[in-house]
Amino acid sequence: PGRWSLHDKMALVTGGTRGIGRAVVEELAALGAAVHTCCRNEAELGERLKEWEARGFRVTVSVCDLSARDQREGLIRDVADRFGGKLDILVNNVGTNIRKPTTGYSAEEYSFLMATNLESAYRLCQLVHPLLRASGSGSIVFISSVAGIVALFSGTIYAMTKGAMNQLTKNLACEWAKDNIRTNCVAPGYILTSLSEGILANKEFEDSVKSRTPLRRVGEPAEISSLVAFLCMPGSTYITGQTIAVDGGMTVNGLY
Ligand code: NDP
Repeated sequence: PGRWSLHDKMALVTGGTRGIGRAVVEELAALGAAVHTCCRNEAELGERLKEWEARGFRVTVSVCDLSARDQREGLIRDVADRFGGKLDILVNNVGTNIRKPTTGYSAEEYSFLMATNLESAYRLCQLVHPLLRASGSGSIVFISSVAGIVALFSGTIYAMTKGAMNQLTKNLACEWAKDNIRTNCVAPGYILTSLSEGILANKEFEDSVKSRTPLRRVGEPAEISSLVAFLCMPGSTYITGQTIAVDGGMTVNGLY
């Protein structure tokens, strides 16, 4: 297996049926990895699985709501069974949003976003740590957001979960380096998916995103999955603890 290959790597990608997660599943599988993925919707998972099998990808699936502890534990049992107690790659992709002014959030909405975006990823890292260590060289990639780096109209709770994820990346990189586990974070700008299509359908909003983005367009899921794949390859074995924005230049733009 070469530096630019994921041949025979074993990967868990959360939330692989749509958007960025789907692109990551397909990118890793096309590069030779065996991939396990999950989401809450059994029918959609079944449809994707058929497509993936038809394309010759080695993908297996579990129905799982990652915000529920017992379901997370069940997922990791499935993964450990499938991959013989080892795992090379964990991509923490699941995340969602409720956009409203800070004063408008209920206690339930706060707990829901924290559980879905942050706690699920943190707990999965805890649960898969023995599997990543057993593989001898593990790679964790978080999908956070530029909303965790600069202030956007994303809602404060979403931004808090992503900012915390950027910091978690640094701590795990240092704490688990001794186990040869690298931890990095990809922070997308606006990418057209089922999560963002509602807000991007607002022409005025879309124009303001484009006007602040040096490349003057929103991104596509495959422009995120390429970096995720690189961060899991032998070619990136000295990169750890980094948060890399994939945002058409939005977060470095002063006044262009
Ligand atoms: P989508 O909503 O399009 O896809 C989310 C995926 O995660 C689906 O497969 C969904 O399936 C699954 N999922 C959601 N909640 C859960 C859950 N509780 N348990 C298990 N699976 C779940 O989102 P995107 O692809 O746009 O976003 C992916 C990640 O990228 C998120 O973390 C998001 O914050 C981040 N991101 C996205 C940006 C964008 O512009 N799109 C920008 C910056 C970051 P199901 O609903 O059936 O469970």
